Amino acid sequence: MSGSMETKNASPERVRVRNLPSTGKLKGIMMRYMLKSKIVELFRRKSAWVTAGFPVEICYVYGVHPLHPENSACISGARKYSLELIEHAESLGFSRDLCSYFKTNVGATEKGIKLKQGGIGKPTFMGSTNTICDTHVKWFQIQARRMEVPYFGFDIPSAVAGTGDARMEEYIDYVVAQFYDFFDFMEDLTGKKITEKKFQEVLRKSDKLCELWHEIYKYRKDVPTPVAFQDTLAAIFPMVLLPGLDVGIKYYQALLKDIKERVAEGKGAMPPGKEKYRLIFEGIPMWYRIKFFHELANYGAVVTYEPYTFSFGPRKRLGLPLDESLRDFARLMIDVPYNYSLEKRIEYFEQVIDEYNIDGVILHSNMSCRPSCSGMLDLKKSIQRDKGIPVWVMDCDQNDPRSYAEGPMKNRMESFIELLEQNKE
Ligand code: SF4
Repeated sequence: MSGSMETKNASPERVRVRNLPSTGKLKGIMMRYMLKSKIVELFRRKSAWVTAGFPVEICYVYGVHPLHPENSACISGARKYSLELIEHAESLGFSRDLCSYFKTNVGATEKGIKLKQGGIGKPTFMGSTNTICDTHVKWFQIQARRMEVPYFGFDIPSAVAGTGDARMEEYIDYVVAQFYDFFDFMEDLTGKKITEKKFQEVLRKSDKLCELWHEIYKYRKDVPTPVAFQDTLAAIFPMVLLPGLDVGIKYYQALLKDIKERVAEGKGAMPPGKEKYRLIFEGIPMWYRIKFFHELANYGAVVTYEPYTFSFGPRKRLGLPLDESLRDFARLMIDVPYNYSLEKRIEYFEQVIDEYNIDGVILHSNMSCRPSCSGMLDLKKSIQRDKGIPVWVMDCDQNDPRSYAEGPMKNRMESFIELLEQNKE
């Protein structure tokens, strides 16, 4: 790689990525959610800790308030509290190479920090799945024991390469049976029975949220893109915690209105003429170093697609009897991008590269989240071979700032930009 390229050591002009005007509304939504969490805790109403991949909609069917330790952990990261909490967890004997979300959560509960710093209240129960990782299971088992609350775990099979239709149907049967166990668990806990009407209402709203999310993504194919990662990384909050409520739907409708206006004016997220390289960013971002994405923007690079944020919004099939709805739900829980076989993952990325006019890919090789990073080097090789675009496998961590070395990261970013530039010529 040439050291004489003008990107090397040059201080690029500062480029301001323009957030959508309605992105600011998220703050109010989060504040109201936190207030509700506080009220639920104070009045000892029913609440649950849930992980990514857990069918959070079922909590709303039973009137249980969901809390999301992964989301709380990223708040700690973004507000620069995570290191202190991680180190506290390590002082209790949890090792350096365990997931930093888990350790942030242990530190947060031990120290009893405030909600706005990423604290989280004691729940009525904890529910996780092993979708993506086994950490979800061990994390909640450990914390449920420490806090003396019940735990419910969904065991989700991995549909590895070669999983045929018949085997998939068996997997679905297996997950559906667990849904019925979970309903029994919830009935015991809340004294309420599931009603099909309520279930369908929550499902319809959850799907509406996903429909809007997909529409937002559709606009991201435009050149210039009207929406950057700087918007979507926060905008997934309703998808993670509020599926089944109206509040997220209204928020996404407001975002879409902004997007349509921007597109009609021919404007993008970057200032006019500044969008040079369109990127995929794969993985959880470094919450303590979101500035990274602004630095990319200074070189004209904008993230226009993230498998991470997109994966929270699968469409549901509506109007089915309960048992059929559960089969559909089970299929979605099994068939998430982070459970894809390598072949399917390569196909997925290459399709996105074509559809979104992608110039380069950043794969976050995340020290915390090893399961979501498996196969990254093969993925890189395939993308480079088939699509001829640069791929940067970036070694870092989502919540542990010790993994982010400023100097080397700056050098690697500049080298990646040089490759993008050479590839365009
Ligand atoms: S290992 Fe990955 S998926 Fe699992 S809890 Fe940690 S960050 Fe989340």
